[in-house]
Amino acid sequence: MDQVKTLKCVLCQREYEPQEVEYTCPLCGNAGILEVLYDYDKVSKRISKESLAKNSDYSIWRYRPLLPIKEDSPTPPLHVGWTPLYPAFRLRRKLELPGLYIKDDGRNPTASLKDRASAVGIVKALERGAHEVTCASTGNAASSWAGVAASLGLKSYIFVPQTAPQAKLAQLLIFGARIFPVKGSYDQAFDLCIEASRKFGWYNRNTAYNPYLVEGKKTVALEIAEQLNWEVPDKVFVSVGDGCILSGVFKGFADLFHLGWIGRVPQVIGVQAEGAAPLYRAWKSRKPLEPVEPKTIADSISVGIPRNGVMALRDLYRWEGRMVTVTDEEILEAMRILGQESGVFGEPAGVASLAGLIKALREGMVEKKNKVVAIITGNGLKDVSAALHAVSMPEAIDPTLESVEQALKR
Ligand SMILES: *Cc1c(COP(=O)(O)O)cnc(C)c1O
Ligand SMILES: [Zn+2]
Repeated sequence: MDQVKTLKCVLCQREYEPQEVEYTCPLCGNAGILEVLYDYDKVSKRISKESLAKNSDYSIWRYRPLLPIKEDSPTPPLHVGWTPLYPAFRLRRKLELPGLYIKDDGRNPTASLKDRASAVGIVKALERGAHEVTCASTGNAASSWAGVAASLGLKSYIFVPQTAPQAKLAQLLIFGARIFPVKGSYDQAFDLCIEASRKFGWYNRNTAYNPYLVEGKKTVALEIAEQLNWEVPDKVFVSVGDGCILSGVFKGFADLFHLGWIGRVPQVIGVQAEGAAPLYRAWKSRKPLEPVEPKTIADSISVGIPRNGVMALRDLYRWEGRMVTVTDEEILEAMRILGQESGVFGEPAGVASLAGLIKALREGMVEKKNKVVAIITGNGLKDVSAALHAVSMPEAIDPTLESVEQALKR
């Protein structure tokens, strides 16, 4: 793993050897998120645009020399990554944005982008000889973690708010996880999980706390660049809860920029729900983060204390990213538009990115000539009851042709 130089604390800037630390900076505690830094000279000896063009492994592992794992570490058998990047023609026409692409990350094995992070996380768990793993999550990170753990026969212990959508809880149970539905918020489940992992020695996947997850999430940016033949988009829209995917997207493009494979880092625009927008507010006011009481239909981004806040804000300032907020109504509208114009079904948090793009178009933040990617981070089947808020169910009819005719007239 000599392509990894050090792990660097976002708070005190101290650097550590990867074997020296497991999760966060020992001096700064849980808030001392560590960032993985690479030796790009070593990386570029092992991977190139040309070697990728010949690589037939269409999964995140095609980028292995750019990931913080050992050369010979086994990887989970589930297929993670290389999700479709659709030039969604009808959606382009509807939004009058001919350079629009949709990255459908609901096409991952457990149906969300979280699989990218879980896959890398589980390799780290195996490298450390762990047999038992844990995480706290609003739902997707948990179901993803439990899924990849099951694919390798590791036992998972999962903390989720008891209010998590049914489908996500069902996934967990089907994957054989031991779940602890917590009578409380995601933020409370998060802290409890860290305590439990210390007490019972479980390998922990908590977002931001585990430094390797951003590295998994960055593969979405690596793929977007490669799928666009290294002609990067002008803007990338992504929904934001803890801010880990946001940093991952920046990190992926930054890696490629440092390698000299792309000429610039696209503008990344983070989208939060209006009722859960602590990162938006901090970014807008350029003040430190202040926790909020989150309230939104988009459960996966219903986060009051963004755990990757410091890194996400740093990335936004460093690379001149932006943040926007959207209402729950705008999210539901985006869900309908995406479904009807492209056949892609996203969960509320998954389509918040598109809702943000629609708002940005309206406000002139995006130009018609821009090449734009909206990342759809989770599949709509994850939360069917939320989707049903976006539509109305017609009344049942008698099984006769006559009643079909009558219904058509209504
Ligand atoms: C987790 C998640 C997000 C937000 O990712 P963060 O890293 O918490 O910002 C967005 N959409 C979906 C579907 C998710 O599961
Ligand atoms: Zn530190």
